[in-house]
Amino acid sequence: MTATADTAHPLLAESAAGHRRILTGDRPTGPLHLGHYFGTLQNRVQLQSQGLELMIVIPDYQVITDRDRADRLAEHVENLVLDYLAAGVDPARATIFTHSSVPALNQLMLPFLSLVSIAELSRNPTVKDEIAHSRQAAVSGLMFTYPVHQAADILFCKADLVPVGQDQLPHLELTRTVARRFNDRYAAVFPEPQALLSDAPLLLGTDAGKMSKSRGNAIALGADEDETARLLRGAVTDPDRRITYDPDNRPGVSNLLLLSALCQSRDPHEVAEEIGDGGAATLKRTTTEAVNEYFRPLRARRAELATDRALLRDILRTGSARANAIADRTLDEVRAAMGTC
Ligand code: ATP
Ligand code: MG
Repeated sequence: MTATADTAHPLLAESAAGHRRILTGDRPTGPLHLGHYFGTLQNRVQLQSQGLELMIVIPDYQVITDRDRADRLAEHVENLVLDYLAAGVDPARATIFTHSSVPALNQLMLPFLSLVSIAELSRNPTVKDEIAHSRQAAVSGLMFTYPVHQAADILFCKADLVPVGQDQLPHLELTRTVARRFNDRYAAVFPEPQALLSDAPLLLGTDAGKMSKSRGNAIALGADEDETARLLRGAVTDPDRRITYDPDNRPGVSNLLLLSALCQSRDPHEVAEEIGDGGAATLKRTTTEAVNEYFRPLRARRAELATDRALLRDILRTGSARANAIADRTLDEVRAAMGTC
């Protein structure tokens, strides 16, 4: 099994049935990691290969929800495109664009903000978690309202399926609420999109918290084999030598078992039994070998593509033009429904 996700998973084919367009995105805050790959990216590639239209937003405005400045933005944006291509996204059929390049998308946020209450925005559990990890002294208005911005990302192109990690479920629920309320109040313009979770909706990082680009606990898709080994050696586990798959009570150990299992298309319980009394060192070694073997082809493709920066910028330019055409049409429909000129 290699990191080319072009064989359709039967359950995925079932989830895809009746859907037409997928949208998801990744903040340009750093390189994509294993959590992205198993949480959403693999599904995106498989759904695209099943014929669904793939839209990927790189939400550059969302970088400043939890920090004062968006550092090295252009570099992060290009590297995300590189990660997508390396993972198997077909750029000829996908639309990849940044938030800031599609003005009409952003304009949808104004009517959408009027459809949600402050109480709804303040009880969002993902926003609360992100505030706890924020680099800002004060919580900005954008932090509370970015889930509405995300509703605009999904609804501007009328995406009906959204392959995401678990942290995005509250946001998707809010998107469905916004679509329903807009349709009830004005006219039936938007579909109510569905979330699609993978087998790893919450992969943990080396500190046993959610693997995140911004929390210093991630293994990047493009990391080399030695770096992968070093990072996994430092992963939080526990002193019990008997290795068992028990995500509630042994999150660190179970996460490594899951990672190993995902890379080998196996069951994590089976991997645990094989390691038996081998302890955390054997578990880490096994996981490192599994990760490095699985991602070897992806990493080789990534290194090859990394030399062609012009191609990456060209993909973004084309994606932005396509996204603008779609957003302009949707904004026209919204204006007609609301009676604005
Ligand atoms: P940041 O720390 O900058 O917020 P992130 O690692 O959380 O970065 P995002 O860009 O916020 O990544 O998330 C992009 C997508 O990847 C979302 O659909 C999210 O649910 C998914 N995702 C992110 N981290 C994980 C993870 N650890 N496990 C599964 N899915 C994940
Ligand atoms: Mg995040």
